[in-house]
This record gives sequence, C-alpha cells and structure tokens, in this order.
Amino acid sequence: MIEFLDLTIEQAKEALNDAGFPRYKANQILDWVYKKEVYQFEDMTNISKKDAQILVDLFSIRLPKVALEQKSKDGTTKYLMELADGNMVECVLMDYSYGTSICISSQAGCRMNCSFCASGKDGLERNLTPGEMTGQIISAGRYSGRKIARVVVMGTGEPFDNYSNFINFLELATSPEGLGIGQRRITVSTCGIVPAIYEFADYDSQVNLSISLHETLDEERSSIMPVNRKYPISELMKACRYYIKKTNRRISFEYALIPGKNDSREDALRLAQLLKGMLCYVNIIPVNRIDGFDYRGNPTENTRMFYDILGNHDIHVTVRRELGNDIDAACGQLRRSHADKVRNRNQHGKGQGTK
Ligand code: SAH
Repeated sequence: MIEFLDLTIEQAKEALNDAGFPRYKANQILDWVYKKEVYQFEDMTNISKKDAQILVDLFSIRLPKVALEQKSKDGTTKYLMELADGNMVECVLMDYSYGTSICISSQAGCRMNCSFCASGKDGLERNLTPGEMTGQIISAGRYSGRKIARVVVMGTGEPFDNYSNFINFLELATSPEGLGIGQRRITVSTCGIVPAIYEFADYDSQVNLSISLHETLDEERSSIMPVNRKYPISELMKACRYYIKKTNRRISFEYALIPGKNDSREDALRLAQLLKGMLCYVNIIPVNRIDGFDYRGNPTENTRMFYDILGNHDIHVTVRRELGNDIDAACGQLRRSHADKVRNRNQHGKGQGTK
C-alpha cells in the first residue's frame, strides 16, 4: 500500500499514470486531495466507482490525528498528533501580526542530544515522512480553522538529519499543486549538519535557513551540542558563507541565552566578531527551562546587553517573543510529558489485571 501523502506531486502523477490514470484524472485526484481536502477516494465525485476501487486498493491517505490540543492564554495552540503507526509528534500554532505560523516536527524524537533541549532526551524514534510533515500543517489548519501563513521546521527533530524526506516535504508544501505555500514563508532550522547545509545551498531555493548556534567557542559549543564535535564552528561558518554566496539569502542565527553559560559580555563580543560582515541576523532566545538542565540566574537579564552589543556592531538582532510557556509549548516538552504519562499509566497498570 502506497501512502499517497508521501508522494511528491511528480511522484503522485507517475504512480497514477502507472495505475492507468490519464494525466487529467491524476490532476483531478491531486486537486481533491490538496485543494478540496477530500481524503476518501469514494467521495471524489468525478471519479467512477471502479476507479475509486483501484485507488483504494493501491493507496492509503492517512493524515495525522489531533490527540491533544492545548491552548495558551496568549493564543498559542499546541497539538499532539498521532501518526498512523501510533507515534506522537507535536506542532504549535502561533499568532503574529502577519498571521498564523506553525512550527512542525521533522522526526519523532531526535538524536542530536543537545543538553538544553527536551526533544533529544529519549533519542530518535524514527524519521517523519514528507506526508507526515505536510500532514501536521493540513491537520492543524483543519482542526483550528485557521489559515496558516508561515511554516517553521523547528519542532522536534533535526530536519537535516532527515534530509531527503525534508526536501520532498518542501516540494509538497511549496508546489502550487500541493499546499502552495511560498518558499519565503518557510524556515528550516538546523543544529549544523554541515554536508546538508552545502546540499541545501545547492538546492538553491528561497526557503529561509536558520542555524542554532548558541555558543562561539568549540569547547563550549561541544559541551552543550554534541554535533559540534563532528562539525566544529569554523566548518559550520564556512558552510554558512557558501550558502549565503550561493543563494544570496540572509541566514538567521539562533542564540539561546543560558544564564552563566553563554550570556557574558565576552560572549556577545565574540558573537559579533564571528558574524561580522555576514548577511545574517541574530535571533536571541530566552532559554526555556527543561527538566534535568539546570542553570542559575535570570534568563532575561543579559538580553539587553546582547542586543546592544550586536546592534553596535551593525548586526541585525531580534529577540524572540516567548509564547506558550504555560502549556509546555517549548521544544519537545509536550511529547515528552505525554510519553511520561503513558509510561506511568503502564507502570501503574501492571499487575492490576484488566476488566
Ligand atoms: N534541530 C533543529 C530544529 C529543532 S530545535 C535545530 O537544532 O535547529 C529548534 C530551536 O529551539 C533550536 O534553535 C534549538 O536550539 C532551540 N531550543 C531547543 N531547546 C530549547 C530550550 N530549552 N530553550 C530555548 N531554545 C531551545
């Protein structure tokens, strides 16, 4: 059985052609799925019963199901979505002045194991397929009734550790016959998988690239982001420069301020030095506290200083608005707290018998 939503538009046309459907029929079927949001072949009124049966025998169409919805006071809505195999992923809708933005996951779990991030604590379960990534956008849009204007691939997982599925997701999301979202309205964030940054540069799209930097010294960065041992800062920056040259697009560097760790005046000056003259901007993120990752101090105290120092060095800087703090909206926390609950339930359930 082929999952229809995992096929790019071109692949879907080919598969339908192989199944004996002429081009115009294939276009009609794609139109039902991606424009009219009809997911049962039997409900496609210009498809004969006989053809619908052929399609049912060949393809499944399975969207992620909303298993849990949490609404924050600030309007941020978090969804825990159940995939066809029972795996759970999370995505978040956020309201901005320009409209609603969705943050989607690219993997169930993550193997990057950054010390400050909840997503990697239980390792990687599996990669998400292209259709499971677009599926989060479709399901969240349908469930909320909101029109989604922007997409950030910044949820659970490392998209560049799932590169080919991620690229097929982009094809589906941006194709006019797919979701038709403008490339410039999509942002992908990576912890710095260098070979994939080169590949993505050569892919040469208008999709925005964001790099999770968080430290300016190799030893320090490796201590919180193990990926840095494989791809140190100098190589990462070389890849970033290549990307900028190739695409002429501005890179956004994410820098989560961790009190007492990477938020000193020297850190800010080093960051300014590192990025000097680059087509980029810095997004300062107040770090979200997660279980098992402790630090002292007030997360917001040094934000202003960072902002000023970078600004004085002519580096564009923004400070990320904190949204959804009251609903575990940050960084893999809902999926984890759900997994904990399931674990607890299973443990408590043991030996009690079933009725
Ligand atoms: N793997 C990708 C995308 C997912 S993480 C990446 O690393 O970029 C999305 C962003 O959230 C990254 O910038 C990540 O470093 C940041 N992040 C993770 N945990 C965080 C926390 N506890 N507080 C603030 N930002 C966090």
